[in-house]
Amino acid sequence: MPKEKILVTCALPYANGPLHAGHIRSTYLPADIYVRYLRMNGKDVAFICGSDEHGTPITLTAEKEKTTPLEVATKYHKIMKQELKDLEIDFDIFSRTSTKLNHKNAQEFFLEAHKKGYIYAQDVDQYYCNTNKRFLPDRYVEGNCPNCGFEGARGDHCEKCAQALRTLDNPHCIICGSIPELKSTKHWFFKLTVFKEQLKKFLSRKELPTNVKNYALSWTENLQNWCITRDLEWGVKVPLPEAENKVLYVWWDAPIGYISATQEWDKKNGLSYWKNGNIIHFIGKDIIYHHALFWPAMLIAHGKYKLPYTIIAGEYLTLEKEKMSTSRGWVVWVSDFLKKYPADYLRYYLTITSPLATDMDFSWKEFEARINNELSDVLGNFVHRTLTFIQRFFYKTIPKPRKLDEKDKKIFAKIAETQKIVAQKIEEFNFLEGLKAIMELARAGNVYFNEKEPWKNKETQATTIYVTANLVHAIAILLLPFLPETALKIHSQLGHKGAFDELKWECAKEKVKAGQKIALHIKPIIQKIEIKST
Ligand SMILES: [Zn+2]
Ligand SMILES: [Zn+2]
Repeated sequence: MPKEKILVTCALPYANGPLHAGHIRSTYLPADIYVRYLRMNGKDVAFICGSDEHGTPITLTAEKEKTTPLEVATKYHKIMKQELKDLEIDFDIFSRTSTKLNHKNAQEFFLEAHKKGYIYAQDVDQYYCNTNKRFLPDRYVEGNCPNCGFEGARGDHCEKCAQALRTLDNPHCIICGSIPELKSTKHWFFKLTVFKEQLKKFLSRKELPTNVKNYALSWTENLQNWCITRDLEWGVKVPLPEAENKVLYVWWDAPIGYISATQEWDKKNGLSYWKNGNIIHFIGKDIIYHHALFWPAMLIAHGKYKLPYTIIAGEYLTLEKEKMSTSRGWVVWVSDFLKKYPADYLRYYLTITSPLATDMDFSWKEFEARINNELSDVLGNFVHRTLTFIQRFFYKTIPKPRKLDEKDKKIFAKIAETQKIVAQKIEEFNFLEGLKAIMELARAGNVYFNEKEPWKNKETQATTIYVTANLVHAIAILLLPFLPETALKIHSQLGHKGAFDELKWECAKEKVKAGQKIALHIKPIIQKIEIKST
C-alpha cells in the first residue's frame, strides 16, 4: 500500500443512461471498499469521480428526444449520483466533465502538447452523410469492425474486441441509414507513437496487474497517432483559431475530468495529489486501452503530473450466462435492485462470487442462495444468537469473563490473524478473499458457540458470551469497508456510541468492555430473501 497521499478515481460513468450491476461490480464497489479501508487506516486519500458528459452517444440521445445534450447529461448525472449514493459508494466528489474548469483544463492540456510538438494537423477523410449534410463522427456511423468482424461496431470503438477504430467495413449513417461517403476535413492528431518506449517502461511497473499489463503491452507494437478532434458542436472547443466548429474528442477531456474534479473538491490542495500522490485508477476492462496507453501518454506530454501508480480493471458481468444488453433490458439496473433489496446484498454478492480480474455471472438463484445460506445463516445468525443471549441472560449487558481456556484464546488469536489477512487481501485488491476471511471468522464463531453450549454450561457461560461479543465486534470492524450499512447496524446493536467515522481498522483488536450495555432492541441484521422464478 502506498504511504503518501493517495488519489483513487473511478472511471467516469457516461451520462447517457442509469447504472447497472456491471458498472458497480467492475469499478465502483471495489474502489469504495479500498477507499473505506484506507480511510479506516488514517490515510490521506481523495476519492474522485464524476459523469462523462461529452461525445456522440449523448448528442444522439438529445436529437432523438428533441432536447439538448446538456439536458440529457444533467438528467443522468443526477440519476447516477443518487444511485451511487444509495449503494454507499462514498466519493469525496462526483463532478461532471462539462464544467468550465474541465473545459479550461482540457484546452490547457491540448495547448501544452501542441506547443511541444506532440499535436499536428492533417487533412483526413471522414464519413460524411449527403442526406443530412454533415460529418458523421464516432457513434453517428455504424458498420463491421475491420479488426474482428463484429457487425455492430461504432465509428470510434468496437464493443466486441474493445479496440479504438478509425474506419469501418460496410458503414451506414445512424440517422438516415444511407451509405456515407468519405470527405476531406482537417483534424488534429496526438503523436501517440512517439511515446512507445515510455509507455513500455510505464507498463513494466510491478504494481500493474497482469490483465492490464498484458492487454496494453499487446498494443504497444501497433500504436497509431490518435485523432483527438471531431466535427461536432457539443464538447470542449479546440483552442486554435483555425479549428472553428471542432471539439476535442471525448476521450481527451474525460480523463482530465479526474484532475478537474480533484481541483473542484479541494481548490487549495487538490492538485498536490496529482503532483506528489499515488494515483490509482479503478476502471472496467473495456477501457484499459484508454487508461493504460492514451492517458499516460497525455500525462507525459503535459509533464506536470505523476503517472498512475496502478490501474485496477474489473472484468465483465454476464446475466444468467448471457451477455448483458441495456437495449434489450437484459440487465440488473441498480434502481430496480434497490427497490427490492438492501445495497449490502448487492455489495456482498458481487464481491464474494468471482475474483475481480475474471468475468462473473449474475444468477438470481445463486444470489438468493448466497444471501440466505451465507450472509444470513452464517454471519447474521452468529451475530443474532450472541446478542439475543446477552439480552435474555445478562440483562442486556456484556458479561465479565472468567479465566480464558484454550478454545477462548484461540478465538482471540483467530481475530488477530483474520485482521491481518483481510488487510493484506484488500491491499492486494483481492476483495473476494478478504470478504471470505471475514465469513470464515463468523463460521468459526458458530462452531465455537455450538461447542461451548452456553445455554447448558452455566460455569463458562459468561466467558463464552464475552468471547463471542468480541468476535461480533471484530466482524463489524472488518466488515465496514465491504458492507458498511450492515457493519454499522451490528455496531449500534452492540451498544456502540459515538461517531462511526471514529471506527479504525485497529479497533478490531480492541476488546469490548464488560459491563457495556447493548441496544434495547435486537433485530436480525440480515433478512432472508425469496426470488420468485418467472
Ligand atoms: Zn472488433
Ligand atoms: Zn444520414
